[in-house]
Amino acid sequence: MSVYQTVRPVKWSQPPRRSLLSLVVPVYNERAVLPACVARLSAVIATMQVHCELVFVDDGSTDGSAEWLRSCNAPNCEIRTVILSRNFGKEAAMTAGIDIARGDAVIVLDADLQDPPELIPAMVSRWQEGADVVVMKRRSRAGETWFKRASARAFYWLLNRISDNEIPENVGDFRLLSRRAIDALRRLPERNRYMKGLFAWVGMDTCVIEYDRAPRAAGRSKWGFLALLRLALDGVSSFSIATLRLATLLGLVAASLGGLLGGWVVYKTLVFGEAIQGYPSIMATLTFLGGIQLLVIGILGEYVGKTYLETKARPIYLIKDIVVADAAKAVERGEHARQN
Ligand code: UDP
Ligand code: MG
Repeated sequence: MSVYQTVRPVKWSQPPRRSLLSLVVPVYNERAVLPACVARLSAVIATMQVHCELVFVDDGSTDGSAEWLRSCNAPNCEIRTVILSRNFGKEAAMTAGIDIARGDAVIVLDADLQDPPELIPAMVSRWQEGADVVVMKRRSRAGETWFKRASARAFYWLLNRISDNEIPENVGDFRLLSRRAIDALRRLPERNRYMKGLFAWVGMDTCVIEYDRAPRAAGRSKWGFLALLRLALDGVSSFSIATLRLATLLGLVAASLGGLLGGWVVYKTLVFGEAIQGYPSIMATLTFLGGIQLLVIGILGEYVGKTYLETKARPIYLIKDIVVADAAKAVERGEHARQN
């Protein structure tokens, strides 16, 4: 008798599972716009074939957004609300939402309806055609000041000159990521999360859809000049060490100029003799070099600081509470798979 037994293939009695789409929405003091946001999202979801879950991340709001979200419900989708312990910033809030999302694909969009939910079906169909990442490129930036537009332009120009991966201009966080892309993104553990850069680093089959960015539906923008400047500095220093190389280059240029000047001074003294003159040139050289040294120390400090923050290895965000609306509990029990 043979010691081997035939292994019968297992028959799966469950029908194939319909794919799940997670919509991740970071929320910080958006009470004024939340009802409209949920209404528009669920109207769009009603028209779609895929199953959806809504993941709201309350990023330490102080205007009652979290309380509103706790009691919010939608007829046609599951709502999970992640309430963070304080305000961690949009990048951390998005990370929390992406970590919690269980979808086969995830779309990140702003609560203020600047990213029109009506475009979601188009993004999903690109994903179903095989794209891992669907990025939404702004054709226009309605409702943004001239200054914001000009500074964004200058920033992307600089960033793309110095960083190794192309970070596309006029592309925000509004995008779809397949499970494959999400899993790749979740392998990047850094605390300093410049999401646009992280998304670009992941790569994968990317498709671009152009859209017109709407003005904010209600409430106020959270990004003042200083917050944007901080984000820009993070973007530059977390994605490249080119600024450190720039420091070396500056040092070289300054040293060469200094050497030439020194040579000229020695030559002049030897040929023409020199009394005690040249105070202006000494001062000019001194301040020039002093400035360059401070600049370079500043650049170094930026990276040392980043390394310090990374070595502390603190969590990117802390969750205070996760609220699951009733319909979502059905999904946790796997009922959405059986319904289809
Ligand atoms: N946001 C957040 N945490 C913050 C700041 C903003 O979660 O610390 C969210 C905010 O609620 C919105 C999105 O990030 O859903 C974009 O913010 P906002 O509309 O203020 O930025 P803008 O569109 O002006 O760049
Ligand atoms: Mg906005």
